[in-house]
Amino acid sequence: MKSLWDDKAAAACNNALELRAYTSRLLGQSDDLVLHGGGNTSVKDAAENIFGEREEILYVKGSGHDLKTIGTDGFAPTRLEKLQRLAELDSLGDIDMMRELKTSQIDPKAPAPSVEAILHAIIPFKYVDHTHTDAVVTITNTQGGEARLKEIYGDDVLVLPYVMPGFILAKQVYEATKDLDWSRYRGIVLLHHGVFTFHDDARVSYENMIDLVNQADEHIRKNATYTVADDALAGLGALDFARLRKQVSEERGGPMVGRFRRLGVAALDNAADSARRGPVTPDHVLHTKRVPMLMTGDAEADVAAFAAEYRGYFDEFTDGELICLDTAPRWGVLPGKGVATFGINGKRLRVCSDIIDHTSKAIQWGEQLGGWQALPAKDIFELEYWELEQAKLKNQAAAGGLEGRVAVVTGAASGIGRATVELLVEQGACVAGIDIDSSVSDVSNSPLYVGVQADLTDSGQVESALSTAVLHFGGIDILVSNAGSFPASSFLADTTDEAWSAALGLNLDSHFKVLRAAIPYLKEGIDPAVVFNASKNTLAPGPGVGTYSVAKAALTQLARVATLELAPDGIRVNVLHPDAVFDTGIWTAEVLQARADKYGLTVDEYKRRNLLATEISSLDVARAVLRLADDSFACSTGMQLTIDGGNERTV
Ligand code: ZN
Repeated sequence: MKSLWDDKAAAACNNALELRAYTSRLLGQSDDLVLHGGGNTSVKDAAENIFGEREEILYVKGSGHDLKTIGTDGFAPTRLEKLQRLAELDSLGDIDMMRELKTSQIDPKAPAPSVEAILHAIIPFKYVDHTHTDAVVTITNTQGGEARLKEIYGDDVLVLPYVMPGFILAKQVYEATKDLDWSRYRGIVLLHHGVFTFHDDARVSYENMIDLVNQADEHIRKNATYTVADDALAGLGALDFARLRKQVSEERGGPMVGRFRRLGVAALDNAADSARRGPVTPDHVLHTKRVPMLMTGDAEADVAAFAAEYRGYFDEFTDGELICLDTAPRWGVLPGKGVATFGINGKRLRVCSDIIDHTSKAIQWGEQLGGWQALPAKDIFELEYWELEQAKLKNQAAAGGLEGRVAVVTGAASGIGRATVELLVEQGACVAGIDIDSSVSDVSNSPLYVGVQADLTDSGQVESALSTAVLHFGGIDILVSNAGSFPASSFLADTTDEAWSAALGLNLDSHFKVLRAAIPYLKEGIDPAVVFNASKNTLAPGPGVGTYSVAKAALTQLARVATLELAPDGIRVNVLHPDAVFDTGIWTAEVLQARADKYGLTVDEYKRRNLLATEISSLDVARAVLRLADDSFACSTGMQLTIDGGNERTV
């Protein structure tokens, strides 16, 4: 790991706080140092108060801010002296501590200070950096880890046993360092937790962190290896995974999304044991629970066994007043095959999956460094049920009505498909977009989206694309069968066999192939719904678009049969008939002008040639898809809905 310090960027910082934000972002660049909001930093600086007096202020990372992107407004300015005095108290409850932290702030608009604020306050240096670095924490999670730390750092680093974060940790450091010559130390290692470095110079504090991490990293690399993804692992069939995800969702009592990957930890001979000893650091427990579900291939039995085990763990450590969290697993290990991760929505799935990537590496390392050894279950439980940690999750607002559900949208690279992807993602759904155009990968950079390139007229490619989607998000709840193209105008008399077959191949056959391949997944889906994008031409065909009208009419009939066949499985099937959606790729200015000329209209008049005289956009169609996919029409199947501004031929 290299220092990312840049003299020019540092010189551009106008004050200590700007420099603090800058080196915090340098730490945030590496997910081997901090992951998804982990870690925290601070700077001490004087500021003038309203009376014109100088006051010592601790600017400490505000909770909810991420070191990767933090700016000066991400720090909470607090009165240093008050925080230092708090450390002298014998004890301080969580509620009291949070109140005191809040009332020590000098700006009510600033974010709430990190729960580690008191600890930052008592470290007698201007800059304090704290990370949960993989390399160091992994070593602390091994048998003989403390001796290894001594071998690596000698006496340069103060090593402290694990205690709960917050006041207890601040108090531990306060007591341990009361009579200490701080200048002897380059940092503090908290076992099973992380590393602190500190200095009056921002660069030295940051680079001490990099150096300590590099020393640990070098030691590990000399003694251990790891694989990220292991292709020798057998993997899991997509349908089996969809079933498992359904079971996990039922156990939680709400939809969850999931991911299955061939992570290296599953290749360990003793994966069933080593992967289930506990997390890398206790704060991961919020996203991963203490241990993974052991998978055997029997979804129902595996989830039930995990739930019973979790309930037992809760009963063992509860004080009788706590309320048990849901008993669904957040990850699972299938020895020899791979690893599953789960989340209540796409964002949480990503966080969990990222953490498990690092966990997979750490466990492989740990097993070669004397044996992976996590904290006792009691410590993990205390953090899992610590109200200050749970509060962090409660503050995360729900993204929308489709959270935890998975949609597949075909023809996603442009037009209606693209607008549908964007709207469903905005509503919290995880969406796999499929298109023959490779730009389908770039439709959205949200973690809730994955693009898959496939030719939908090829059954093999369809099946493989759906399988990719299911392993990436856990299943298919919503199928938006949208792909299509508008062929060049041609009267029947002039239509060649090839043009006929090609037009029906995409506008009709591909929808059948997608539906057929999706049905097994939809049967395992949560509130499953299918939306076909047909056309006004179904109801009101036009001359010169025979292949298109015939394909769309047959597609509508396909949907009607599907409605009948899939209703017993609770799968709703509805059809949209849009018309004159001109904000798509096929309608260039020239084509529009030509069509308008044909009818003797201006382009604007041509666009609004409907009863409401309104212009119809891709977003209007996407909105209808959303309503057919969410619970707005929970009791409706077999519907055909026009989105055409009203057409006298179809009313
Ligand atoms: Zn920490």
